[in-house]
Amino acid sequence: MTDRIDTICVQGGYRPGNGEPRQIPIVQSTTFKYDTSEDMGKLFDLEAQGYFYSRLQNPTCDAVAAKIAALEGGTMGMLTSSGQAANFYAVFNIASCGDHVVASNSIYGGTYNLFSVTMKKMGIEFTFVSPDCTEEELNAAFRPNTKAVFGETIANPALTVLDIEKFAAAAHIHGVPLIVDNTFATPVNCRPLAWGADIVTHSTTKYMDGHAAALGGCVVDGGRFDWMAHKDKFPGLTTPDESYHGVIYAEKFGREGAFINKATAQLMRDFGAMASPQNAFLLNLGLESLHVRMARHCENAQAVAEFLAGHPKVAWVRYSGLPGDPYHALAEKYLPHGSCGVVSFAVKGGRTAAEAFMKHLRLGAIATHVADARTCCLHPASSTHRQMNDRELEAAGVPADMVRLSVGLESREDLIEDLAQALAAL
Ligand SMILES: *Cc1c(COP(=O)(O)O)cnc(C)c1O
Repeated sequence: MTDRIDTICVQGGYRPGNGEPRQIPIVQSTTFKYDTSEDMGKLFDLEAQGYFYSRLQNPTCDAVAAKIAALEGGTMGMLTSSGQAANFYAVFNIASCGDHVVASNSIYGGTYNLFSVTMKKMGIEFTFVSPDCTEEELNAAFRPNTKAVFGETIANPALTVLDIEKFAAAAHIHGVPLIVDNTFATPVNCRPLAWGADIVTHSTTKYMDGHAAALGGCVVDGGRFDWMAHKDKFPGLTTPDESYHGVIYAEKFGREGAFINKATAQLMRDFGAMASPQNAFLLNLGLESLHVRMARHCENAQAVAEFLAGHPKVAWVRYSGLPGDPYHALAEKYLPHGSCGVVSFAVKGGRTAAEAFMKHLRLGAIATHVADARTCCLHPASSTHRQMNDRELEAAGVPADMVRLSVGLESREDLIEDLAQALAAL
């Protein structure tokens, strides 16, 4: 098919045959029927392609995963039940107890906890580096047991932009893949694989679903990383898997398929954080308009950011579309058509002013969410980051006065009027 994003959003992943449903069918079945045990045995041995149990694979989920893989320019994808599961699987598929991972320190708080607390308990150590570190600083973070590098194209909520080429080069010098969480940019605005990343992850809960309807995640493999060239580093892919009759994923499925086939066969089998077919269907409805919605989110956010930047009661604004933003130059390179709909800013008067301002908003609702059609906002210091004191908040790049505004698809005049009246009320 085509490589044009707009067409893949609408028609990718599913080609109905003659007389078949135009829309992706929801295969609402946990299990699949076979004529003989031999037929089913071949599936269990990974000798034949097919479905046997929806914890591992389901046709609805596979069609939507194939669409996202095509959007990212990757070879294979898998859906997961959440973005958290996607990032866990992407890292745990190649790193285990005794291994080490280099990660940007400017990442989603949930991912930071997953890495620094929960995966640490599993014996995996993380070194966090600033996304703005020098090449020397980045290279110094690697150890002989490093298995991957991780970052976010646009970090939630710090809105830093990752220098993907810099991180990919360092990863490849050290013989490991770069994993990029592309949730905020979406493939409409940036395709990390084209800049050297090897694996892309998503919380599809955000712009891809786009309507705050279904939680979900996705892992996409670019299919280029040569596991066999670094055989000793990645035994899970390059030596026999005894839990699957000795299959060697990198040999059997090649570069194109090794990573996702292993993640499905082992991690989905054992952890089971699978997307439901119903949620995959809802996700696909979102994907069909992703390209149209992203453009509008970006236009609205740009207008809102410019309005806020010019307002006397606003202390500061962060949006990479503003020429004065520290990430403007990186955004021009990696996000030439726009970044995302999230703007962070502070009103003068700090924490109390932030809380008062949000109470006055009429269209913008207070919600622990971003990236859906309706404008919403959050004061991290009094909600998601409530446990931290002001000094800790500053260090985490989430200052106490920060308001995270997720600009939706409403009329931008109405949004600006709403912000203006809330600021006037202070
Ligand atoms: C929300 C988010 C996640 C976690 O996704 P869930 O679907 O909420 O589990 C991971 N990464 C980023 C960048 C996110 O914004």
